[in-house]
Amino acid sequence: MMTRTQVGIVGAGPAGLMLSHLLSLNGIDSVVIDNRTRLEIENTVRAGILEADSARLLADTGVSDRVLRDGHPHEGIDLRFGGESHRIDFRALVGESVWLYPQTDVFVDLANARSRDGGDVRFGVRDTCVDVDAPAIRFVDSDGVAQEVRCDLLVGADGSRSICRDQVPEALRTFSFREYPFAWFGIITQAPRSAEELVYAHSPRGFALISQRTETHQRMYFQCGPETDAAVWSDDRIWEELQARVAGPDGFTLKEGPITERTVLRFRSFVAEPMRYGNLLLAGDAAHTVPPTGAKGLNLALADVRVLSEVVERALLKNDRDALDEYGPRALARVWKAQHFSYWMTTMLHALPGATDFDVRRQLGELRSVTGSEAGSRFLAEGYTGCWPA
Ligand SMILES: Cc1cc2nc3c(=O)[nH]c(=O)nc-3n(C[C@H](O)[C@H](O)[C@H](O)COP(=O)(O)OP(=O)(O)OC[C@H]3O[C@@H](n4cnc5c(N)ncnc54)[C@H](O)[C@@H]3O)c2cc1C
Repeated sequence: MMTRTQVGIVGAGPAGLMLSHLLSLNGIDSVVIDNRTRLEIENTVRAGILEADSARLLADTGVSDRVLRDGHPHEGIDLRFGGESHRIDFRALVGESVWLYPQTDVFVDLANARSRDGGDVRFGVRDTCVDVDAPAIRFVDSDGVAQEVRCDLLVGADGSRSICRDQVPEALRTFSFREYPFAWFGIITQAPRSAEELVYAHSPRGFALISQRTETHQRMYFQCGPETDAAVWSDDRIWEELQARVAGPDGFTLKEGPITERTVLRFRSFVAEPMRYGNLLLAGDAAHTVPPTGAKGLNLALADVRVLSEVVERALLKNDRDALDEYGPRALARVWKAQHFSYWMTTMLHALPGATDFDVRRQLGELRSVTGSEAGSRFLAEGYTGCWPA
């Protein structure tokens, strides 16, 4: 079966679906394919923090205003160290907040919007392969039928294990990355909120993040070794570790409940350049990943496709193919700021294996510099909200 479209998109995550939506607003048609089913994607818990610009993009372009109705604006975070909390007030420092709105809801909103607008999104496909020179995507659809989508441009929005990225010849590409000697042990617990805003805790036992989901379910993480087996940790042991990492003289304790989900999340910093090769353009995690500490991944995916939709429109509607050359440099300017921010937050807050007394006290000095000066706090607030000066 053959389909003809203007833009073929591999990956129905936030990058792929948002791009398809933005293009459709300008009359450009696309086909999006994903090798997972809609249900599988809906049930994968991932990001939870949207920059205000990401929330506005969803609302202002007509995806859904649910984010503004059901999402929770967070006007700051707590940095906790030495057993005390220090609030970074985003609203006071940069005039913006972020939104607590799970990625699963972002996905549902985008998938519903594509379906409402007659978009062609095919879930549950297999055996994807792409042709960059005569742009096309080939795959077997969920009914077992071999399909070919021929297109003018091909977009790889296929996440951190991208197959599209591998189409860029080795001699022409650069992969920059940093591995970290730790991972995150993430849980979902059926419990009330322990705090109204996110708590980022530095402690001698390692980092912990106390985050929220809904009135009844909360998301928490603590730093662990990359090889940790989540299955061997009892609920009691998990709570003991989390409580120890946030404990302090102010008596702050976490509200405990049954643990309904547990995973170990390994991460790294990664950037693939260039983001364009001939008819192929990479977006989102396919081109770059960040440690989750700065909550930047989903936001970067949306920022990429905002730029990408604009250059694709100029290329296809105004016959200006040179516009495509602008995509990589414009997107990468933000990507590298976000890389720096995520790396900085990560190394400031995590216990580094083999750290000396000097290393730990320097980290505490850094945290005091950030929380104790307006310039330091503003730097964090700009990065976290994504409000970087141009
Ligand atoms: C635990 C966790 C917590 C996170 N927290 C945050 C946070 O708080 N804030 C934040 O901004 N980011 C966060 N992130 C990162 C964020 O989830 C990702 O950056 C975001 O999903 C990237 O979107 P994407 O569309 O580029 O890729 P993805 O969401 O990964 O989508 C790619 C899609 O491509 C599909 N695909 C892959 N290969 C193929 C193939 N061969 N054929 C067809 N389809 C294919 C996949 O099934 C997938 O649906 C977190 C990530 C994790 C794992």
